[in-house]
Amino acid sequence: MVRVLVILLLLVHPQLLHAAYAQAEPQASFETFLAQLWVDAQSAGISRPVFDAAFAGLKPSPSILAHTKQQAEFIKPLWEYLDSAITSSRIERGLQRGKDHAEALQKIQQNYGVDLYIVLAVWGMESNFGAFTGGESVIRALATLAHARYRGDFFRDELLIALKILQQGHIEAPAMKGSWAGAMGQTQFMPSSFMTYAVDFDEDGHKDIWTNVTDSLSSTANYLAQKGWIKDLPWGMEVLLPKDFDVSAYDLQKGESFSHWASIGLQRGDGEALPNSGEAYLYLPFGLKGPAFLLTANFKVIKAYNNSNYYALGVGLLSDRLAGSPPLKGQWPKTDKQLTRAETIELQHILARKGLDVGEADGRIGDRAQAAIRAYQRQSGLKADGYANSSLLDRLRKNP
Ligand code: CA
Repeated sequence: MVRVLVILLLLVHPQLLHAAYAQAEPQASFETFLAQLWVDAQSAGISRPVFDAAFAGLKPSPSILAHTKQQAEFIKPLWEYLDSAITSSRIERGLQRGKDHAEALQKIQQNYGVDLYIVLAVWGMESNFGAFTGGESVIRALATLAHARYRGDFFRDELLIALKILQQGHIEAPAMKGSWAGAMGQTQFMPSSFMTYAVDFDEDGHKDIWTNVTDSLSSTANYLAQKGWIKDLPWGMEVLLPKDFDVSAYDLQKGESFSHWASIGLQRGDGEALPNSGEAYLYLPFGLKGPAFLLTANFKVIKAYNNSNYYALGVGLLSDRLAGSPPLKGQWPKTDKQLTRAETIELQHILARKGLDVGEADGRIGDRAQAAIRAYQRQSGLKADGYANSSLLDRLRKNP
């Protein structure tokens, strides 16, 4: 589970990798670090007793530092990621937890306009419905990373906000638990997200995303609402493409109305009709060789929680299963040889040398890299489906 979090974190913050190896300044002692931190904490309104209680007997954690040195050698193919995110036991647990909190979920859906199954699915993806919230002391985790100046001032700023949360009395320091990177509680909010989005939905005076499910779920719904969730618009859906579908003719990032997609023969994978209103863009994670999806603006809202197509697809598909929809119809290209991380970086470098915009050559095929692959496929007279496998890389190597 921690491994998954590490990978997710790298997906969100690729710059973390570089910061870890670029420590130029000599490191101050932890005591000096705390003395300097106190100056800023005091001017932020933290009292001495709260500060002292937070750091009583606290030393930096070597195991947390070790996490910053880890790097994923390969990235799981999407189907493996989804298989581990959407297990039958997770669906079962989600249905049970959904029943247990049905009344709160209804109220939250009504109040924030966010589909309750999406709220439930984010809860499932972030903490397995509250079962896994991370066992680290958030203050210790943030202080360790801030002291090491991992990613510059980022964790020091988060640490100061975490102290404010303690100062405001939402939680006691020993109960303020989270991941090694300081993502807290059932919503896995960083302290800065807590400050902006956490909600005291049961109005007991505490925003409690650690032990209070109602506060946790409403905080997630509030986050999605503030990020622009559109009420009654689905996140997206699997679609089946017509046999004669001309993939090269489409700008994959451009939205078209659902009625347009229906008019050229796209059908929903679950057999339902496409929505009457709204628009969506086509997402082909493996080009024409795997399942196809239509995605809406709400898919991008889910990505605000974690900036990864894999993650957002995991949330969307888990929400569908919780709502009773069948599994995907399309087959993943499991027997097709997938590129390793190093090969993907090589592919990105070759495309960049050809003057195509691949974004950062980070070993991941994101939206920009997919657009660059399609541009190359078009130039080469291939079907522009944006799918890079080893035969495409071989072709590029021969003509770098
Ligand atoms: Ca509360």
